[in-house]
Amino acid sequence: MTIVVQKYGGSSLADADGIKRVAQRISETKRAGHDVCVVVSAMGDTTDELLDLAKEVSPLPPPRELDMLMTAGERISMALVAMAINDLGFSARSFTGSQAGVITDAEHGKAKIIDVTPGRITQALADGHVVIVAGFQGVSQDTKEITTLGRGGSDTTAVALAAALRAEVCEIYSDVDGVFTADPRICRRATKLDRISGEEMLELAAAGSKILHLRCVEYARRFGIPIHVRSTFTDKPGTIVADLTEGEAVEAPIIAGVAHDNGEAKVTIVGVPDRTGMAAAIFEAVARAGLNIDMIVQNVSAVETGLTDISFTLPKGDGRAALQALETIKETVGFHSVIFDDQIGKLSLVGAGMRTNTGVSATFFKALADAGINVEMISTSEIRISVITREERLADAVKAVHTAFGLDSESGEAVVYGGTGR
Ligand code: ASP
Ligand code: MG
Repeated sequence: MTIVVQKYGGSSLADADGIKRVAQRISETKRAGHDVCVVVSAMGDTTDELLDLAKEVSPLPPPRELDMLMTAGERISMALVAMAINDLGFSARSFTGSQAGVITDAEHGKAKIIDVTPGRITQALADGHVVIVAGFQGVSQDTKEITTLGRGGSDTTAVALAAALRAEVCEIYSDVDGVFTADPRICRRATKLDRISGEEMLELAAAGSKILHLRCVEYARRFGIPIHVRSTFTDKPGTIVADLTEGEAVEAPIIAGVAHDNGEAKVTIVGVPDRTGMAAAIFEAVARAGLNIDMIVQNVSAVETGLTDISFTLPKGDGRAALQALETIKETVGFHSVIFDDQIGKLSLVGAGMRTNTGVSATFFKALADAGINVEMISTSEIRISVITREERLADAVKAVHTAFGLDSESGEAVVYGGTGR
């Protein structure tokens, strides 16, 4: 008998009807003769609502308590889904991440899975139960505390369980039909992909595409688990995420898609003396504060002054900490001032074909120019070009680039079945 792991996102579980619909789908898979292990997210926008509530109660809640609070969201879903399946005549058992053997490090709010010991899950499956696991959580090996894996972490729980159970496939159910060439919420002409390589999916996820959690894609590639991204609301096949064989790679389109991210801010350090070691001092200070930076640009220094500007981007939420860190080295480095700008957007074009095809950058920048969009920063990898634009022009930029690369769907508009996009 084959094991199938399925993960259902919050928008598929938003209310009682959603939960019953999901239970129906799970029962169908069970009826088809599979052992089914299901991972659930919190209902609808529950996680955001719990976070809002915590903020109302306390400006700086202890991370341990925040994790206790947030894991409750997934526990509500898991019990309700199990009840609904029982009503359909199958026996279902729900388990918290800790009970399911999801072992993590001790970092509250962004714990990493270090091991999965799914003894209770294999036993429950062997006993004929459908297993429901609360996503996005685990237990720390060292501290024995309950941890969460970071926003969107249920995808990672699902892939980790799929690997540990040697499942055939990990199906990720959401409110759209699969992975699209752009976010269908802002680009209605986005096209659904039938297949995408793990490498390209990793770049898209890293560039802000929210369809799959970045760490889930990394995990799936490491363990060779194919992911099937599909909709809870239809029976249509979705997108298979798996590395391509050599033959398939030759046939693959040049561009996989366009991702956007409006969660970043830009920090510009003005008037940095153009001397050896200045950039090192700046980025060491930022690293000491535990901040992850994304793009970096250093301007050519003006000959008259010997001063240069350095800009970098980082998640908006880390802005304040970055400014504080820079303040501590202002005297020693001797820069002039710092400008903080959180009205930026990042657009990324991703495609493995960039390695072997010329003219991609030319088409890309021409599309932005024709749409009247100014580029503020640029960064590239082997298979990606990213730019920073004004945030209010980001959606226009996505549409312009999408059209320029011939990605617009000919078969009508993409459907978003649910969710608030929060
Ligand atoms: N409920 C969590 C979140 O909203 C985890 C998840 O949905 O994957 O981030
Ligand atoms: Mg989610």
